[in-house]
Formats: sequence, structure tokens, C-alpha cells
Amino acid sequence: MLSFVVPAYNEEKNVETLYSRIKVLMEEIKESFELIFINDGSTDNTLNKLKKLAQKDKHIKIIHLTRNFGHQSALTAGLKLAQGDAVISMDCDLQDPPELIEEMYQKWKEGFDIVYARRINYRKDNFLKKLGSKIYYRILNKFSFVDMPRNVGDFRLIDKAVLNEINNMPEHSRYLRGMVAWTGFSHTYVDYHRPDRIEGESAYSLSKLARLGMDGMFNFSVLPLRLGFYLGFITILLGTALLLYQIADTLITGAYYHLYKWLIVLLFIFMGFMFMLMWVVGEYIWRIFNEVRSRPIYIIKEKINFEE
Ligand code: UDP
Ligand code: MG
Repeated sequence: MLSFVVPAYNEEKNVETLYSRIKVLMEEIKESFELIFINDGSTDNTLNKLKKLAQKDKHIKIIHLTRNFGHQSALTAGLKLAQGDAVISMDCDLQDPPELIEEMYQKWKEGFDIVYARRINYRKDNFLKKLGSKIYYRILNKFSFVDMPRNVGDFRLIDKAVLNEINNMPEHSRYLRGMVAWTGFSHTYVDYHRPDRIEGESAYSLSKLARLGMDGMFNFSVLPLRLGFYLGFITILLGTALLLYQIADTLITGAYYHLYKWLIVLLFIFMGFMFMLMWVVGEYIWRIFNEVRSRPIYIIKEKINFEE
């Protein structure tokens, strides 16, 4: 069975179209399926439309959240209750074309555990958003400790094995694309051109996007933490170099340095040590954070010749 997990926030104009397109598709693929909609505190008619659809077709399941919890939380709710052998998460606004599902499904049948839908063009976002996203992913990839897939959103297929791992991660600030990549299961890509949203408005305001970006950066890279180290290192180096220069200059040419100049270099060195100490404290916090979010220490894909 295939599960579809679709968060919907004010998508009254899209739910019916999405449903009918998925239905047509599943009749072609001939696999049983469930279509889970998560109503993430919509303030429009989304819930009523969903309920009407669910009355007619038992494939449709609805999770109705009390309020708007945000895209990643809504996805989490859906993944928790999905029962399929593979789960496809996708947006409700038809920006993730259902027609791609067949190809993703084939890749899964070939044996891949994760199939990402990868955007080969960026939609016509404004210049700043595009540039921001490019810089963000460059930095994240450089400093993250998992191989982050580029140009993918939350449109992907995951095998039940991956789903179980995700569902067992209790962490609260959820950056699902990172968590999925972190599990390390075999993965592949299916490329597509991402169309513009046809109906409704993007619910991802700049602040929501920024929060998602921060979750990615803080949860999957050590850059924020290492900042203290780099800063400290540079400052100490600079301070020491200046100090040595002044000492040498005094000894060799007999130059006179005013007291404040000595103080400034010493200040540099002390500041450097302060930054370093902050980094040490940060390392401990990082370790506490890792213990608290209690991810598994490793994930076994297969065991061979072990007794049951
Ligand atoms: N969404 C949600 N809760 C939110 C914001 C968005 O469930 O608080 C859903 C939305 O209905 C859509 C998906 O998440 O199905 C992606 O949102 P959107 O299309 O606004 O993001 P964008 O495509 O602009 O990145
Ligand atoms: Mg969208």
C-alpha cells in the first residue's frame, strides 16, 4: 500500500483537484492507497471540502489539528499515522505534480528507500529569495554533517523502514528533509520543473522560511557552534602577532609604545580566550542537545547470518 501525506493550510481551491489527479493516477498504478490530509488549522473551507470527499471515498483520511502548527509539524502528524509500505509526502497546492509519483513509485520498486523529487529550475521567485536560498544551501552543505540533498523540498517517497526511523525521532524542531537524509538509507532523485502555485497563496512567509532555515542550520550543522572557536582562534592569533611585533620593535629599534597600545593587544588575546571558552561551553550544550533529541546512534539496514 502507498500512503500520501498532504498538509493543507487554507487550500480549499486545491484539495479537490489534487484528489482527483491522485485518484486517476492510482487507478493506473493499480496499488492500494490511503490519502491522508492534515488540516493544519485552516481558516477557510478546507476542512468541509475534505470531509465531503472523505464521505465519498474511504481512501481519504483526515487529521484535523486544533490550530496552525506549521508545515513540518503537520507533516509529522501525517507520517505518524501513515500505514503504507511507502509514504509520499507532497504539498497540497499542485506545485508537486502528482504525475511524478509514478516514476517515484518505480524507483522504489527498483529498491531505493528514499526518492527525492528534485527541482531543476527555481520557480519565478523574487531575486532575493533565490539568492538567499542559494547562499543558504551552500553554507549548510559545507558545514552540515550529513549529505544534504540540494534543490529538494518535502516532495519525496520514503520506504516504511525510513518512516519508522523518522517516527522514532522525538525531536521537536523538525527539519524533515534533513532528518530523512540523516538516516542514510539508499536514495535517488526524480527531476521536475516546479510550476508556480495556481490557487491560493504561499503560506510560507519570510519569517516562517527563516525559522525553517534556522532549524536546518542549528540542527544539522555545527557552524553556529564553531563560530566561537574560529573567532577566538583569529583574535588570539592577531593579538599574539601584534604583541610579538611590539616586543621585537621595542627591543630592536628601542621604539616607545604607549601603555594603551600594550593594553589593546592584551585585550585582544584575553577576548580570544573568552571566545574560546564560549566555544567550550557550546560544545557541552551541543552534547546535551544531542542526548536530549536522542536520535539512534546508528541504523542497521540488514543483518546477515544472525540467529533470529
Ligand atoms: N502548509 C501547512 N501549514 C502551514 C503552511 C503550509 O500545512 O503553516 C502546507 C500548505 O498547505 C502546502 C504545503 O504546506 O500544502 C507547502 O506550503 P506552501 O505551498 O505555502 O509553501 P511553498 O510552496 O511556497 O514553499
Ligand atoms: Mg507551494
